[in-house]
Amino acid sequence: MIFDGHNDLLARLWMSSHRDPVDQFLHHTLEGQMDLRRCRQGRMYGGLFAIFVPPLKYVKTHASHKLTSMAHSQADFTIAQRHDICTAQIDYALEIEYRSQGAVKICRDIADIHLCMKNQCLAMVLHLEGAEALTNVSQLDDWYAKGLRSVGLLWNEPSQFGHGLQGKFPHSPDTGLGLTDLGQQWVVECEKRRMLVDVSHMNEQAFWHTQQLLTQPIVATHSNIHKLCPQARNLLDSQLNAIKVSHGVVGLNFDTAFLRADGQRNIQTPYSVMFAHFDYLFEYLGETGVAFGSDYDGGFMSKYWPSVDYFPRLIDALSDYGYSDIRIANICHKNWYTVLHRIWASLNK
Ligand SMILES: [Zn+2]
Repeated sequence: MIFDGHNDLLARLWMSSHRDPVDQFLHHTLEGQMDLRRCRQGRMYGGLFAIFVPPLKYVKTHASHKLTSMAHSQADFTIAQRHDICTAQIDYALEIEYRSQGAVKICRDIADIHLCMKNQCLAMVLHLEGAEALTNVSQLDDWYAKGLRSVGLLWNEPSQFGHGLQGKFPHSPDTGLGLTDLGQQWVVECEKRRMLVDVSHMNEQAFWHTQQLLTQPIVATHSNIHKLCPQARNLLDSQLNAIKVSHGVVGLNFDTAFLRADGQRNIQTPYSVMFAHFDYLFEYLGETGVAFGSDYDGGFMSKYWPSVDYFPRLIDALSDYGYSDIRIANICHKNWYTVLHRIWASLNK
């Protein structure tokens, strides 16, 4: 049974040119790396589903049908456009839940997650990756009411919440200033609502700002080890220690560019490259801090783990590698469950 810390399904549904992408997700095979059938084959019972506005340049190349004539001439999306795109993705999640007839559930608290584990329905926890679209906390409350339970304030570019990380390689995570005053206020606002605050796309200073403000566990939903792959987005030992002290979790990102020492997108990447990151995480975080954060539908994967239905093979490989059943259960679902429980503990529906 798998709970996965990060996927970009909703952004892909938004970019799809299909007439009815929700129907494709629920009943057919979607282009990309996941749909309901493959989630079941992969024994994936849930995960954090990102709401994410892709860079305009990317949308121009890969999904230009989504753009108005005005957007074609813009350099970047406006805040209002971002808001509409995020809302459209939240609507996709709600529509999936509604049309799935119980097969998919948007989870708002730990009881919902528990129900999904018991009934084998797919647990969607809605996560916002990059909060540029939000201009005030009442909008955050609107999305909270629709099911949003996790926020990554920043993506790669600078915003009203903080300075950019930019995903440079090779580069240290120290890419400049951290959170703005507003960004710091919003960390507190998210924690007040018992939402997860994700540090995965924060530069080093933003990470430490967040660490100082949070009393809840620190989560990096999809990040890897900087010492093994010197991508600016990966975590330093000092950051891992802070995550451990907070009883937090790191979800391992499967994108080969965040795993390999050469930072390459390489389809031939073997399990051993991924497992070195797992070993390192266990050494620093102990048994309770390590989980999956695959980045399916958003990452460049190896031929050994190209899509969610390959999870069982990955688990067999971890077992062959020598990981105990207990450790594998911790990675697969227990550690996400525990940290969600901790953060949502006082949450009432
Ligand atoms: Zn990401």
